[in-house]
Amino acid sequence: CGRWARAMAIVKEFEEKCGTPTGKLKQVADAMTVEMHAGLASEGGSKLKMLITFVDNLPTGNEEGLFYALDLGGTNFRVLRVQLGGKDGGLVNQEFAEVSIPPNLMIGTSEELFNYIAGELAKFVAQEGQDFQLPPGRQRELGFTFSFPVMQSSIASGNLIRWTKGFSIDDAVGQDIVAELTRAMERQGLDMHVSALVNDTVGTLAGGRHSNQDVIAAVILGTGTNAAYVERAQAIPKWHGLLPQSGEMVINMEWGNFRSSHLPLTDYDLALDAESLNPGEQIFEKIISGMYLGEIVRRVLCKLAEEASFFGDTIPPKLKVPFILRTPDMSAMHHDSSADLCVVGNKLKSILEISDTSLKVRVVVVELCNIVATRGARLAAAGILGILKKLGRDTIRDGESQRSVIGMDGGLYEHYIEYRKCMENTLKELLGEDVSESIMVEHSNDGSGIGAALLAASHSQYR
Ligand code: ADP
Ligand code: MG
Repeated sequence: CGRWARAMAIVKEFEEKCGTPTGKLKQVADAMTVEMHAGLASEGGSKLKMLITFVDNLPTGNEEGLFYALDLGGTNFRVLRVQLGGKDGGLVNQEFAEVSIPPNLMIGTSEELFNYIAGELAKFVAQEGQDFQLPPGRQRELGFTFSFPVMQSSIASGNLIRWTKGFSIDDAVGQDIVAELTRAMERQGLDMHVSALVNDTVGTLAGGRHSNQDVIAAVILGTGTNAAYVERAQAIPKWHGLLPQSGEMVINMEWGNFRSSHLPLTDYDLALDAESLNPGEQIFEKIISGMYLGEIVRRVLCKLAEEASFFGDTIPPKLKVPFILRTPDMSAMHHDSSADLCVVGNKLKSILEISDTSLKVRVVVVELCNIVATRGARLAAAGILGILKKLGRDTIRDGESQRSVIGMDGGLYEHYIEYRKCMENTLKELLGEDVSESIMVEHSNDGSGIGAALLAASHSQYR
């Protein structure tokens, strides 16, 4: 009895610390807007890097020809080829291959990582059939989606600022990522030109805009999280180059690194951060994205085991293993609709080697998943509100509603249904009924790959 009361006290305290009442979310959104201004004002002016992407035109639908894309940003990378049909032709044909990145390559050397990627790309090109046609005499062209913070110097070059999401390859930091890839392709004897280097958010924005002209921003909720949006070039004081003809510039916010005193951080989050590969960085990412949600739940379960003998007299050893509880497993438990929560029971057994759990215990596990997912989803919604505020799209002006579409992508958004529902409902709650009608959240399925191919086309060397 004493144990159970202690366990409940720990859960209750955690729940309170994770609280995200509307007022708090509005403060988070306001802080996001403030940081956006600061990051646009000067280099290093904010935790939000607000990176200039050199994308000043989004796809028009006139893009034509065969283009490739390579999407590197998490545990998998994907290569694709896309045959674009030009005006009204749309997407004629596409093929892709997905390969997982061997974990040792995520913390090895730059040359090893890029050799591997270029090798897989060369295989993909070698397997090409007759239904993809490159005009004679033309070099293959690639849009490279690279979902880490990069300081770009042009549409097709840029230096890696730092790694995130479990990558840690020291000798790549500060290097031109396109040059690294190009050298690796040369070593493979692969004749391909990188025409565009884009963040996955920028690719998703481009892909989303291609199918819907009202898309003004893109958000990724996957292993990590980030957002990009279309800014007025005039509103970027740190940009000293020529103003683009379009008057617009896509900004890669790198919002995963957002931090504010209004964020509801718990001791579990602080410990997770301190023990991470990048302490002090990517705090927003560490409480809302797929790489970390399951790990936060594990940490609370560990505390329950240690301080309230939640799983009996001994602490299940597996519970001590960092990142053993992955977010897809957390989401499977959260979605368990069986009366006896048998999915939860099976996951606890297969992953943590805790058998014969009572229903009472399983209910608490689901509750923890709910607390962690709800906090993440509501904060993601607050971040989106921050962007809408920055653009003045969070209100109805002169009785006229301006349609705004946010393109969303990423495995977390795609598969974690409770998270997604909560995020979408929270956005409605924050915007109010009237404004909500003009704001849409749309799944931009695989926008980042197709978007990169589209941007490679619009920045082709043969333009
Ligand atoms: P990445 O972000 O690595 O480019 P994805 O967009 O495919 O790749 O996202 C993969 C991430 O999505 C995984 O790391 C995981 O955190 C999350 N995810 C995948 N499947 C699920 C699921 N069924 N439930 C919850 N989260 C999931
Ligand atoms: Mg991705």
